[in-house]
Amino acid sequence: MARHGGGRGWYGKVLGAACGVTLLAVGASMWTAQAGVVSGSSPKATVSARPAGDVKPVAVDIAHASDQGARGVNLTIDDGPDPVWTPQVLDVLREYGVKATFCMVGTQAQAHPDLVKKVVADGHRLCDHSVSHDTTMDKKSEAFQSKQILDAERMITEASGGVRPMYYRAPGGAFTPYSRTLAASRGMRPLGWNVDTKDFEQPGADAIVATVERELPNGPTVLLHDAGGDRSETVEALRRLIPRLEEQGYSFGFPVR
Ligand SMILES: [Zn+2]
Repeated sequence: MARHGGGRGWYGKVLGAACGVTLLAVGASMWTAQAGVVSGSSPKATVSARPAGDVKPVAVDIAHASDQGARGVNLTIDDGPDPVWTPQVLDVLREYGVKATFCMVGTQAQAHPDLVKKVVADGHRLCDHSVSHDTTMDKKSEAFQSKQILDAERMITEASGGVRPMYYRAPGGAFTPYSRTLAASRGMRPLGWNVDTKDFEQPGADAIVATVERELPNGPTVLLHDAGGDRSETVEALRRLIPRLEEQGYSFGFPVR
């Protein structure tokens, strides 16, 4: 079957999919706590302190092709960093010499800057996954979307020691034309996915592997999670999946920007 990474057909099908829904309640309360902060009253509430000179705008459409071409696979790891699971995911990736893209929740990055720095040091890429993972972001005001995206960009960049996120993935795929345009103007390519492993439903490592092998013909970008619950199945699935796919001639890379 022909792969169509780069096509748009998959997007409508997964638009309503929730990823990392268990974070939602926590994220919502964090947002409520932040909402009363008047912009500019605290250094943590504004993005104006960051120099913008090094930011180059990127394309606004949703990326999912791989820089490794027709047999490329983009592993994307969402909702962390998490002190239990992110180190285990990093260990597996390091063992096989594979790079991935980590879509981080701003508050998680802020809480675990050591993990953000480890992800960067291992050669992986960062992706802005909003401040509080509100999967109804596409129904919210532009002011809300802007704050979620730009504050998370700042939190992740500060936690990494100055390495900026290269992508923006809306929580649950809840992109809007506004959020895509804003992220792209900050050098963060909107990032979709083709293969939803549903690992957060804990279907078993075998089922996660089977889903990837079945759905990879749809496109190269695979959605996995390193937070939001017990991710031992995800770690085990990666351990089985990487050598299996390499045997089948796949190579691992990054989403095109
Ligand atoms: Zn997510």
